[in-house]
Amino acid sequence: MSESIVPPEVRPKPAVPAKPPHVAAPSPTAPHGPSGLGGGFGVDRVPGLGHSGSGSTLLGYIGIDTIIEQMRKKTMKAGFDFNIMIVGHSGLGKSTLVNTLFKSQVSRWSSGWGGEHKIPKTVEIKAVSHVIEEGGVKMKLTVIDTPGFGDQINNENCWDPISKYINEQYEKFLKEEVNIARKKRIPDTRVHCCLYFISPTGHSLRQLDIEFMKHLSRVVNIIPVIAKSDTMTPDEKNEFKHRVRKELETHGIEYYPQNEFDDDMEDKNENDKIREAMPFAVVGSDKEFQVNGKRVLGRKTAWGVVEVENPNHCEFALLRDFLIRSHLQDLKEVTHNIHYETYRARRLNDNGGLHPISANNTQESNL
Ligand code: GDP
Ligand code: MG
Repeated sequence: MSESIVPPEVRPKPAVPAKPPHVAAPSPTAPHGPSGLGGGFGVDRVPGLGHSGSGSTLLGYIGIDTIIEQMRKKTMKAGFDFNIMIVGHSGLGKSTLVNTLFKSQVSRWSSGWGGEHKIPKTVEIKAVSHVIEEGGVKMKLTVIDTPGFGDQINNENCWDPISKYINEQYEKFLKEEVNIARKKRIPDTRVHCCLYFISPTGHSLRQLDIEFMKHLSRVVNIIPVIAKSDTMTPDEKNEFKHRVRKELETHGIEYYPQNEFDDDMEDKNENDKIREAMPFAVVGSDKEFQVNGKRVLGRKTAWGVVEVENPNHCEFALLRDFLIRSHLQDLKEVTHNIHYETYRARRLNDNGGLHPISANNTQESNL
């Protein structure tokens, strides 16, 4: 039997839309222009991309670069989810820091007005969502608080409820993915980032810190931070940071951004700098002070006001820039491509295939 090759369906070509006025025409001499395109993908350049090899001519603008604008518009419309978990014993300033990061009351404080703060007997998981909008972009931010962590006399396995919660979100996503009538956009409740608060003792990490990060770094992006760093002198802070970094290394704890997931040399160089500066020694506050005629967030200490956003005073701004302004998308990608993928592969292997769930929750067939 001979295989016949079906010619591609010939359809009338849609009229090429005129180049949007705000998009500059790609110049054949531009440094990141056409010459960079073909090489990166290891394919031959085609005349339409402006390559003027033998016999080919510059045929004009196609409009491939408008994909960026198209993606921007879609993201603006759809918005995105970002889920951040905060872990560390009570009173370390977790709620304050997240509120400072997102400039709003996205996490509840330890105690209400005059109310007494009760430490729960076991670790609780509390997820609270808010929609934050900036520049027309909507972010559904979920802060997952873990009150009770590290507060018990016996803290053995107190990461279990946290690990269970993280896996439950992967499971939820997986079930949606294999659903026959799956949603166009699967709601993403997976934990993209876990901020782990280290007590500013100036000594060393506690056994619980080591155990938690060891267990959880395999399933979630952990970012360790040194809490309430205004309670240490600059020398104490630097020494403590150095010691914590050494201990993390000794115990083989891989925190985010993990070495092995650097995309290329540029990524590696950028991430190396961040890794060398971690864990960030942060300060959070909801109080404003007048400094040099400007209102700034800060904390009053014996030696003056510690300005939260001043990089000479603490590393809050470094953390904010890293977490939100440069690595937010990467945190989501590593969660999806590495942590979720590992869960998914294990789950499908263990189970010999998941049972997909149809819209009315009846099982229909194996994967
Ligand atoms: P959580 O239990 O970890 O969520 O801690 P909270 O955010 O509720 O803060 C507990 C107490 O510590 C509050 O009185 C805060 O004002 C205070 N606090 C929060 N962040 C800092 C900080 O960076 N430095 C200092 N010195 N105190 C802080
Ligand atoms: Mg709190």
